[in-house]
Amino acid sequence: MIEAARMTGWRGRAARAALGLVLAIQLVLGGQAPAFAQRQNLSVVRDAEIEALVRDYVRPILKVAGLSKAGVDIVLINDSSFNAFVAGRRMFINTGALLTAETPNEIIGVIAHEAGHLAGRHQERLRDQLARAQTMAVVASLLGMGATIAGAAANSGDIARAGTGIAMGGAEVARRSLLGYQRTEEATADISALRYLDATGQSAKGMLKTFERFQTALALSGTKVDPYQVSHPMPRDRIANLSERAAKSSHFDAVDPPALQLRHDMMRAKIAAYTGGQGAATRIFRKDPRGLPALYGDAISTYLYGNARGALTKIDALIKLQPQNAYFHELRGDILMKANQPKEAADAYARAVKLDASRSGLISVSYGQALLAIGSPDSIKKAIDELNRGIQRDRENPAAYQPLAMAYGRTGDIGMAELASAEAEFYKGQYLDAKIFAARAQTKLKSGSPAWTRAQDIINYREAGKKKN
Ligand SMILES: [Zn+2]
Repeated sequence: MIEAARMTGWRGRAARAALGLVLAIQLVLGGQAPAFAQRQNLSVVRDAEIEALVRDYVRPILKVAGLSKAGVDIVLINDSSFNAFVAGRRMFINTGALLTAETPNEIIGVIAHEAGHLAGRHQERLRDQLARAQTMAVVASLLGMGATIAGAAANSGDIARAGTGIAMGGAEVARRSLLGYQRTEEATADISALRYLDATGQSAKGMLKTFERFQTALALSGTKVDPYQVSHPMPRDRIANLSERAAKSSHFDAVDPPALQLRHDMMRAKIAAYTGGQGAATRIFRKDPRGLPALYGDAISTYLYGNARGALTKIDALIKLQPQNAYFHELRGDILMKANQPKEAADAYARAVKLDASRSGLISVSYGQALLAIGSPDSIKKAIDELNRGIQRDRENPAAYQPLAMAYGRTGDIGMAELASAEAEFYKGQYLDAKIFAARAQTKLKSGSPAWTRAQDIINYREAGKKKN
């Protein structure tokens, strides 16, 4: 499920995350706190199902682009506008883009275009800077919170120049200078995208559809402008050129495999339920109200806005239809946690972990939290194992370390508990707190042990771009 929703719901988390990001920004930018940062409400969303799907979209494209060596982290930004871009090893995608795209092909087309920029080494210096930034939260905030970047204008580098942009003309200008490309770079990325799509047997229709939508939207005054549109001006000749070339591909009429389309629809139902409120998913899939996506959206909405018993009935009906769907069992676990039945929740998560082909660390963390909530000495030991398993696959998830710290604390291992707290703060970008916890951990850990050494790494860590004092 969506990591964020466990305790307070997606919206609640977004507000708290925004606060974290403000702190992160302050640290990165040397302590200047932009006054209007508080208005921002941007957060990274973690979800096993969406991440696995987007990774499946991205993987073949990167392979034919010759970019697959390091693997790519998918970073989902909780933002209803349309945006997607690659920076270093990270692919950033707004949930709004995923919700807007009616087919996998529409998103894959945009990913192909972005891969074209990456392969063409466009904006490399900026991309390097973003790739080096330590935590996802910090990177996301640098890219998304255009407004707060203004406070950084005194610092050097591209990001500061973007900050100057904002002083002159608002967040969109900042984004444009942050991720704006030359006209020739756009043309190159378009051509590369066509090549990648062709090599993977996919149509360029989705990419054209997205670009055409932006062109139309730009013509209408008063329409909301998406960040992607601003960084990608779509002159008529560019689209005409692209259509002509795209139509020549033998894969132009290829459509997404039905199983992939279904996963896409399930994802859209989930995003709609989390971001659009009750009934949002049902509205999208009103033509097929008994289809899996509509039912899934309804089950999630009932979990979020209704009662646990009702949600449980709905998810059990879905599990009957698709017993091997890991995310149905994951949602079942979420519902049972909300109903304060950790034992049953742990069973559901254990099932989900087993069925999840993508081996997401997030589901392991949910499982570990349920085990911790059971609270017996035996289940707490199991919780530590499971949480560490989750962390192995997903080191930068701060939410994994908080329950780990609690579990170690319950077993009396205070050194490891302090280290886990240090990791939680570290990956939130709150380096000062991280260092305090790490120093406390060291007093309890064996000098020179791996845990002690990790604590030392955190103590020694110096943020990228920050001057030595
Ligand atoms: Zn572009």
